[in-house]
Amino acid sequence: MHDAIEMAFHVFVGGRDLPVEPFIADVIERMRGDWRSSKAGRYRESPKTAALFEHEYAVDLKPEVWQAISRNVATCLRNFFRLPLLTAIRKTSADHWSIEHWSKVFEFEGTAVWVAPDFGFWTEEGRLALVDWKTGGANPDGAAFQLGCYALYAAEVLGVAPSKVDLYEANLREPEVTQVQWNDERLDAIKEQVRLSIRSMKAYLVDPAANAATIADFEKTEELRICRWCNFRVVCRPELT
Ligand code: SF4
Repeated sequence: MHDAIEMAFHVFVGGRDLPVEPFIADVIERMRGDWRSSKAGRYRESPKTAALFEHEYAVDLKPEVWQAISRNVATCLRNFFRLPLLTAIRKTSADHWSIEHWSKVFEFEGTAVWVAPDFGFWTEEGRLALVDWKTGGANPDGAAFQLGCYALYAAEVLGVAPSKVDLYEANLREPEVTQVQWNDERLDAIKEQVRLSIRSMKAYLVDPAANAATIADFEKTEELRICRWCNFRVVCRPELT
């Protein structure tokens, strides 16, 4: 979804329109190609290619499940093209759009923090807007923290004060766009949350300065049903695989 939206914005930069249904059909065809590549295990030789958990762990999913995923992508993309937010974005100068959603790293009190806002633009009122495209179910706490980290990114990397930042959570499935304005107090609360998170992660390290950990210091869960859906199962609990 995120790659598809990025592709769409690259077209919009040139001021061109996209025929919605052919674009969606093309995205679904690409997904099929990725699915086939993953199923064939190509990611073992080319780690940057698509690798699906279900193929690595041989989870037997019915075709209906895959079809539901592809329907969801089509619905989200159709909603994306109809969003008033998209109309508003396209009225602004594309020169200042930040399209790529790859992580940017910055130092936060001596620790590297990676943040990846999905999309950024300057509104007609001269405010910085950062957008998070969501395609799944809502997780209000996680989403609020994530948006808060975007505000932190705006302040630390772009030097834009919280009072000049608008954060948008665009849930494409519903579709529903939630706009959050920010202020110094809320940013302080996010900083404190990030500090606590860093501290609790570093507490597990044998050598925090070198970011080094020992696997034996990490207790394994007794709830094997959690392991069932864990990406690290093959290295952590190979006996379950
Ligand atoms: S397999 Fe995953 S969930 Fe299970 S103990 Fe290991 S890391 Fe934890």
